[in-house]
Amino acid sequence: MTDSYRHKGLRKKLVDQLRQRGIRDEAVLTAIGAVPRHFFLDKAFEEHAYEDKPFPIGNQQTISQPYTVAYQSALLEVKKRDRILEIGTGSGYQAAILGAMGARVFTVERQEALHLKSKELLEQLGFTNIRCFFRDGTKGLAEFAPYDKIIVTAGAPVVPQPLKEQLAVGGILVIPVGEDVQYMYRITRVSETEFREEMLDAFRFVPFLEGVKRK
Ligand code: SAH
Repeated sequence: MTDSYRHKGLRKKLVDQLRQRGIRDEAVLTAIGAVPRHFFLDKAFEEHAYEDKPFPIGNQQTISQPYTVAYQSALLEVKKRDRILEIGTGSGYQAAILGAMGARVFTVERQEALHLKSKELLEQLGFTNIRCFFRDGTKGLAEFAPYDKIIVTAGAPVVPQPLKEQLAVGGILVIPVGEDVQYMYRITRVSETEFREEMLDAFRFVPFLEGVKRK
């Protein structure tokens, strides 16, 4: 795996494009400029890694479009050392962006093949602040709760209750909700019992499914 000057130049262009599309969070843009997205894609798509598009990563899943990664990451208002739970590791790219921003990331994937592949890649890249788990994310990851932030990267028909419960007071959950099209929701836990919900823009994600799939 090499990260050439050409790759770096393409990333800079991608960052400019994301800025033009309205991403304002400089820490997010810096992370996108730093993480080699081409490492997270199959060789066949390497040439296209810095286009603002989703791509297949095998097992009927996709790596999210850079705009979507930036949009969700910005909504999280990431602070260094935040404990962040991600549901849907997929390629590991979103986790790497949060890791590059200095967060402590716990990421959960329901497909064993994707989990193993991404875990290895993130280790190779030296992300000691990212821990990968092979689990059904509809249940969250109770043993490391509470989290300052939770991000779901698959389209959920409803917001799973365990995710709200595993959020710290003052914490933020970012989750695309809906069947066919999903609306991004930002849910803030304002107290032990109260949550504030904001419904934002429409997206299309792969489905959030229950249970795990072994290799
Ligand atoms: N964040 C990923 C996006 C991957 S697509 C990236 O940056 O590449 C969404 C992923 O969510 C898929 O890999 C899918 O298998 C996973 N997923 C769907 N339902 C899940 C669940 N209940 N628990 C954990 N992962 C789930």
